[in-house]
Amino acid sequence: MPRNPCCYGASTSYSRKAGGFRAAPSHICAMTTQHQSPETYTDRVLNFTIPSRSARGRIVRLDAVLDEILSAHDYPPAIAHLLAEAVVLGALMGGLVKEDGAQMTMQAQTEGGVVRLLVCDFREGELRGYVDFDRGRLASLGANPSLFALFGKGYLAITFDRSEGAGRYQGIVPLEGDSLAAACESYFAQSEQVPTLIRAAIHRSGGRVVSAGMLLQHLPDGEEGRERLHVRMDHPDWEHVSVMGGSIRHDELLDPALSMDALVWRLFHEEDQVRILPGAKLSRGCRCTLEHYSMLLDRFSVEERSEMADDDGLIQVDCAFCAKAFPIPA
Ligand SMILES: [Zn+2]
Repeated sequence: MPRNPCCYGASTSYSRKAGGFRAAPSHICAMTTQHQSPETYTDRVLNFTIPSRSARGRIVRLDAVLDEILSAHDYPPAIAHLLAEAVVLGALMGGLVKEDGAQMTMQAQTEGGVVRLLVCDFREGELRGYVDFDRGRLASLGANPSLFALFGKGYLAITFDRSEGAGRYQGIVPLEGDSLAAACESYFAQSEQVPTLIRAAIHRSGGRVVSAGMLLQHLPDGEEGRERLHVRMDHPDWEHVSVMGGSIRHDELLDPALSMDALVWRLFHEEDQVRILPGAKLSRGCRCTLEHYSMLLDRFSVEERSEMADDDGLIQVDCAFCAKAFPIPA
């Protein structure tokens, strides 16, 4: 029987071939005519599904987009690293709601932590983020502070706002584990009852930071979008997929010699079928414009606006994402 030209695969087994460094074969095809460019750091998402395992996944690699987000701020390495991880997670989770205008917002915050607030959001391929932290206290933590050292007892809120008027869904989990990625896995297990594996890797070379990540989920019996009462982490298909996916190393995720297609191939080439679908191009985007803020200020009365104004009659509105002030006439 001829194999679906948009798929690849062979027999199924639980072992990753030892030293299995193999280039992606030419018969891994995109399901659309839009093929990946040969560059491997394209600020783009790659989606894939493994139909026989009821699993789906995404891989993302960020370079210029991350650079643009970080360069708006003068963050010390530990904070840049934290935001880089948040942005890669934002890119992985943001596209899970596919409607136009839908937004995913991730907020990590504490009371009394060195990091007071971290925000990252995603809307229609646009990413942005910032961190509010105590610079003096951060200096006392050393070069590689743990998540707990940064946040103390914190929590992570993930909000999916569907398109205009279609409602929102928010889940809040304790900020526990070694990384933001681990906290996001807990969010999916506790709030959405979806077994999820997430890996995020960050690399700094000189002043440049790049990041890469992978998200894998198990959605048995076409249950996507349906509410479940129990999460089943021990389903044999999920155990298999999560073992294979979990074997990916940070240096593989970040390796510029390895395309995102090749990464999927390396992990799952023994599956019957893996469908690859290139996702949207990502960009850095913010909604801060003079017009936007003027419109917001119009909701206040003339008296309120004059109270907000400085001696020159200007209201200074800050965009924390861009670290930029907008002086708006009261
Ligand atoms: Zn802005």
